[in-house]
Amino acid sequence: MNFVSTRGGAPAVGFSTAVAAGLAPDGGLYVPGTLPQFDAVAFRGGSSLHAIGTQLLAPFLEGDPLAGALADICIEAFNFSTPLVTIGADETWVLELFHGPTAAFKDVGAQFLAACIRRMRVDAVHPLTVLVATSGDTGAAVAAAFCGAPGINVVILHPQGRVSARQQHQLGCFGNNVTSLAVAGSFDECQALVKQALGDQSLQLRMELTSANSISLGRLLPQMVYYAQASLAHYRQHAQPLNFIIPTGNLGNAMAAALARAVGLPIGRLALASNANAVLAEYFAGARYRPRPSIATLANAMDVAAPSNFERLRWLYPDERELRAAFDVRAIQDQQIRAAIGSAHARYGVAFCPHTATALHLLDQFREQGDRRPWAVVATAHPAKFENIVEALVGAPVAVPPALAELLARPAASEAIAVDYPSLRQRLLRMACA
Ligand SMILES: *Cc1c(COP(=O)(O)O)cnc(C)c1O
Repeated sequence: MNFVSTRGGAPAVGFSTAVAAGLAPDGGLYVPGTLPQFDAVAFRGGSSLHAIGTQLLAPFLEGDPLAGALADICIEAFNFSTPLVTIGADETWVLELFHGPTAAFKDVGAQFLAACIRRMRVDAVHPLTVLVATSGDTGAAVAAAFCGAPGINVVILHPQGRVSARQQHQLGCFGNNVTSLAVAGSFDECQALVKQALGDQSLQLRMELTSANSISLGRLLPQMVYYAQASLAHYRQHAQPLNFIIPTGNLGNAMAAALARAVGLPIGRLALASNANAVLAEYFAGARYRPRPSIATLANAMDVAAPSNFERLRWLYPDERELRAAFDVRAIQDQQIRAAIGSAHARYGVAFCPHTATALHLLDQFREQGDRRPWAVVATAHPAKFENIVEALVGAPVAVPPALAELLARPAASEAIAVDYPSLRQRLLRMACA
């Protein structure tokens, strides 16, 4: 399969080329040139994530140098489960995406991307530096996925003091080929520094640089797989499509769900819950699209007000009216996040993270309006990553899952850095010469 740019001004390329490039040369995002079609019967072969992933992603990698390795890549990447569990009442499900090494759904995309890039680099002479800006969860997932990979360095920039204590610890605990930089600025400033480095031609003459941000196809496509697994399992049992409520920031997770629906999986409505950054909720309510700087909320990994995958959503639904009809979108305020965490714990005895709580609140709104359809709340992170917020609201300690406990037991260190491109450039060059 070939991938084309959302802006239509770049040559079509295969999967590996699109992954290596990140952004298309015309500034657009890579999207599939055609959408394969599946039906539930086609997936009789297996129900494990890696079996479903191998079938579902095969058409996307067809003709690519990595095609023959897809089954191995899937086994390597999907090495933890994403269970669909029921809570409390009938027709209310939770899709738990936080059982990976860093306890957030970003582990799925990061591990798949790393499995691809490792294979693309086997004959490389010079080391590759993967540069990522993170608002909290991406950096750790990418670090965990690439940690120890030969010939690959990872540099993570996070906004100092704006991630949770455990997120901060995770970022700094890998050591080895992973460098954690604490930037005295906002996430948007971290992202701007990364963009500047990726656009710095003279730097790229001296070192090979790539990114692993939310627009990477290597992260986007594998995220379809857990939607496939959950919707197929539900369909087999109930002969009905499953509807999902997705906590949303950069629209990577939601775009994967929309693609999974577009290729024929039994997925019904898709509802997107954002935090107080209401750019999407306003657009879907009929206003003009108005991206802007983000504000800080309790759901920090969703503090985005210029969602990078919006361009892909527009490509999938070129007609504005159809786009607005394809999703239910609401912005959830911090006090509603707090209330949702408290009430879910009181009702179900389960603690949820602040991101997942946006989706829980939206589900409550639907139920109050008499909606009895089967909905799955997408649980994007483990509450133990945000114990500073969650424990006070549920009045009890949150047990730390083993993988997270292992990371928290390691020593951790980040280097402080100013919002200053020349300092970052110098730091990167020092690494290239080491
Ligand atoms: C990144 C993240 C989100 C937002 O996902 P997008 O793909 O950026 O929309 C939601 N919840 C958690 C816990 C995250 O880490």
